[in-house]
Amino acid sequence: MVAEIEREVRDTADYTGRASLAPAVIAAVLEVPRHEFVPLERRHLAYINRPLPIGEGQTISQPFIVALMTDLAQVDRDSRVLEVGTGSGYQAAVLAEIVEHVYTIEIVESLGQQAAATLERLGYENVTTQIGDGYRGIPEFAPFDAIIVTAAPEEIPEPLIAQLRPGGRLVIPVGPVAAFQSLQVVQKDAAGEISRTDTIPVRFVPFTRDE
Ligand code: SAH
Repeated sequence: MVAEIEREVRDTADYTGRASLAPAVIAAVLEVPRHEFVPLERRHLAYINRPLPIGEGQTISQPFIVALMTDLAQVDRDSRVLEVGTGSGYQAAVLAEIVEHVYTIEIVESLGQQAAATLERLGYENVTTQIGDGYRGIPEFAPFDAIIVTAAPEEIPEPLIAQLRPGGRLVIPVGPVAAFQSLQVVQKDAAGEISRTDTIPVRFVPFTRDE
């Protein structure tokens, strides 16, 4: 699976600016048992580079996309990261292998609860899970060194930009649900100025709201 991810990273390098993944990202992908985050009936497919259904109409993202988003976030051992869209908890676990702490929020209660149980069972003590609408971020734990959003809104939620630390990065698929979205990297510089970069077209589940 990792060889497949690395090949796809090389193939998309012109668009992402990343010809290879940071060693810490590769190590994290090798470390996390993806089959633990996949429903029983699909476990035999867990180490294929594909997204898979996890129930409630949602999916665990393709491993290449998880690795790429983690890499684009440019996090390290000191980072505090927010993930919006816990889903299975897999992306949170990959981040947790690298960073100091992961805060992850999921809008579908049953998925959030199951992910929390999986992460606890596997011993991820540096992940805090929350149920709620991630549009609002998690103000009580902000600011974050990086934010990864794994569902696609049509526009970037303003609260997420506000909760990004100066120097931080937001990695987010932006665009209409019916088509491909653009995986964007939003950087906030030391002065608080925002810049946006498009990378590759992606297909994510819709970003929903609880109102
Ligand atoms: N990161 C996940 C991918 C899950 S798919 C993984 O590794 O498995 C995206 C998830 O985002 C879905 O579970 C969906 O319910 C959730 N979601 C959609 N809109 C949301 C919102 N506003 N706040 C929090 N979660 C949201």
